[in-house]
Amino acid sequence: MKRVYNFSAGPAVLPEAVLKEAADEMLDFAGSGMSVMEMSHRSKIYDEIIKEAESNLRRLAGIPAEYKVLFLQGGANLQFAMVPMNLMKNKKAAYIITGEWAKKAWQEGQIYGEAVVVASSADDNFSYIPDCQDLAIPADADYLHYCENNTIYGTKFWQMPNGKGKPLVVDMSSCFLSEPLDITKYGLIYAGAQKNFGPAGVVTVIIREDLIPEVCLPGTPTMMRYKTHADAASLYNTPPAYSIYICGKVFTWLLAQGGLGAMKEKNEKKAGVIYNYLDKSTLFKGNVRRSDRSLMNVCFGSGNTALDERFVNEAKAAGFDNLKGYRTVGGMRASIYNAMPIAGVEKLVDFMEGFEKKIKG
Ligand SMILES: *Cc1c(COP(=O)(O)O)cnc(C)c1O
Repeated sequence: MKRVYNFSAGPAVLPEAVLKEAADEMLDFAGSGMSVMEMSHRSKIYDEIIKEAESNLRRLAGIPAEYKVLFLQGGANLQFAMVPMNLMKNKKAAYIITGEWAKKAWQEGQIYGEAVVVASSADDNFSYIPDCQDLAIPADADYLHYCENNTIYGTKFWQMPNGKGKPLVVDMSSCFLSEPLDITKYGLIYAGAQKNFGPAGVVTVIIREDLIPEVCLPGTPTMMRYKTHADAASLYNTPPAYSIYICGKVFTWLLAQGGLGAMKEKNEKKAGVIYNYLDKSTLFKGNVRRSDRSLMNVCFGSGNTALDERFVNEAKAAGFDNLKGYRTVGGMRASIYNAMPIAGVEKLVDFMEGFEKKIKG
């Protein structure tokens, strides 16, 4: 068996230790005589799995008691709709557009009310984060929505937008648990697991209790009310049980790594290795404004489509997989989430240097 260095943006690399443990437990979880995939989500043994996952996540991210943690389905995309259905009481909300996902969230918001764009970096193909310290947020807006880390373009908000007192609703799909965060600054955080903390099939929602409405917009299905899932501790219907179990293992792994402070240090180091090389390369160039660079998704290119394609193919043959950039961006993207070891990044840069030498002489 040979595992590659997997730079996929998502579903993405998981810690090898987690995968091995899951493999060991596949046929017989903790003496139950069955796999976690085969057990009732109402059983005592599964109840312990989901409760432990939640309590470890609370410890890891410092989630206060007045916030609910929900493990839901439908991905971040369903949150684009669930957020307005639950929170858009005044039928108005403010949106910052810094990439494809932020735009999709805004488009979905328009189905339910007035979704007002208060800032955008569309004018330069989302290669930067606009200044969001003095936005014209409508006084009756129910929330301010933004996407903290733009997976496709490789930018990140290093300074929180000033929400002017409105609840901040944040898509953290591709950066959640990559660094410490102060939950109390947010109204609602959502993140699909398949980028940085688990397999596809589960999206984690952290919501301040007082934002969970008794009544949603008319027509909101039972399954799309936060209250339904909060009241049932994410067990209203059959949850993505196996995915939650793997997420739980990742939370335990992150705690053992030293928590989010330690992850931030590692992630800065990893991103630094690539960005430092890009800054001195005469072949490759980073795509985005330096001050807005993501630690998770590093986007770069040579400016020559054919050469980029050749690089992606040669890299794949050398064991560096999934480096092709998103189709609207082109070039390359190296996603280097928590589970990507530093060796993967160092070896990738060695390979890039070799490629550059070959091309430039
Ligand atoms: C991947 C991604 C999404 C979409 O997630 P799905 O689980 O496919 O719905 C949304 N937002 C961000 C920031 C992402 O990276």
